[in-house]
Amino acid sequence: MKRVDLLIVGAGPAGLTAAQYGARAGLNVLVLEQESVGGQALLIDNLENYPGNMAGVSGREITVSMHKQAMDFGAQFDSAEALAISAHGTIPPSFNVVLSDKEPVNAKSIILAMGAKHKTLGVPGENEFIGRGVSYCAACDGPFFRGKKIFIVGGGDAACDEARFLGRLSSNINLIHRRGVLKAQKALAKRVLEDPAVTVRFNTSVTAIEGTSNVEAVELENTKTGEKSREAADAVFIFTGIDPQNHLALSESLPQKPKLDKSGFIITDQNMATAVPGIFAAGDVRSSPFRQVIVAAGEGAVAAHSAAEYIEMLRGK
Ligand SMILES: Cc1cc2nc3c(=O)[nH]c(=O)nc-3n(C[C@H](O)[C@H](O)[C@H](O)COP(=O)(O)OP(=O)(O)OC[C@H]3O[C@@H](n4cnc5c(N)ncnc54)[C@H](O)[C@@H]3O)c2cc1C
Repeated sequence: MKRVDLLIVGAGPAGLTAAQYGARAGLNVLVLEQESVGGQALLIDNLENYPGNMAGVSGREITVSMHKQAMDFGAQFDSAEALAISAHGTIPPSFNVVLSDKEPVNAKSIILAMGAKHKTLGVPGENEFIGRGVSYCAACDGPFFRGKKIFIVGGGDAACDEARFLGRLSSNINLIHRRGVLKAQKALAKRVLEDPAVTVRFNTSVTAIEGTSNVEAVELENTKTGEKSREAADAVFIFTGIDPQNHLALSESLPQKPKLDKSGFIITDQNMATAVPGIFAAGDVRSSPFRQVIVAAGEGAVAAHSAAEYIEMLRGK
């Protein structure tokens, strides 16, 4: 069985930063990534809100640099999905992690940096038109639809925040919400309802997204009567929530598990420590009010620092 000091699960901005800090602190670090190094940041064309990135370098370019930097400091990377964690030995235990198609890894400490995934509507046309009118990020794609007819799906804080943002780019924003009341905080919902650029359509859902090369129309359904209609559209922004990639934290073989908030995000203290000594969490998978690259990177650095202190404590230093 391969043995490391620190195992990091996920190579998005949180995992990549943790890898750099962990390796630089002299730990033997292994990072596992099930898909592509870079995580969600690979979807960001212009990461213009990352401090210092005034040239608007893409998320892909930034994470390629992060990856190289972590490897230069000695972090190792492997392409595999972490399937389950079990505690091994006496107190404090080390952890065995079962991988897809590879031998298990034993680690003194683990950083969970598995990120999150945006919820999809699952309607016809949604997948087909991602990047061609369908978007999950107003800051990234809103400027492409300046002055255009934009539909927003959702009724929570994210949908309302983004409606306000997009309302500065176009006066033709249509917020589609399947219920009769917005779920967002009252003050925010009030601002959206009073925004002249935004028309809120209650009891309505988007049932299909249509077009040829780009989005051209949406099919709407009245959720009370079932009546359907079709309207021209240039873009559909979907903000119906995000799912934490928390499966590993729920491993049955782990007797004591990290605590989760009511939406399934991992709860930590300010050191990024979960309820399980030796297991830390960082980035979008963590219970947090703001999910961004800079936040994930910062939390990754704190988690690696805390893991290094934990390992030193195990070594009796
Ligand atoms: C379309 C879009 C646009 C965005 N635009 C911006 C922006 O402009 N500015 C900004 O700051 N932020 C933006 N964000 C948010 C930003 O991308 C995220 O906050 C950030 O990537 C979170 O980093 P992370 O490392 O926590 O998670 P992620 O980036 O989600 O990375 C987690 C990684 O873990 C891997 N993983 C999960 N489970 C396992 C497992 N069991 N085994 C192995 N690997 C696993 C995943 O494959 C993934 O690669 C955007 C997000 C999206 C989706």
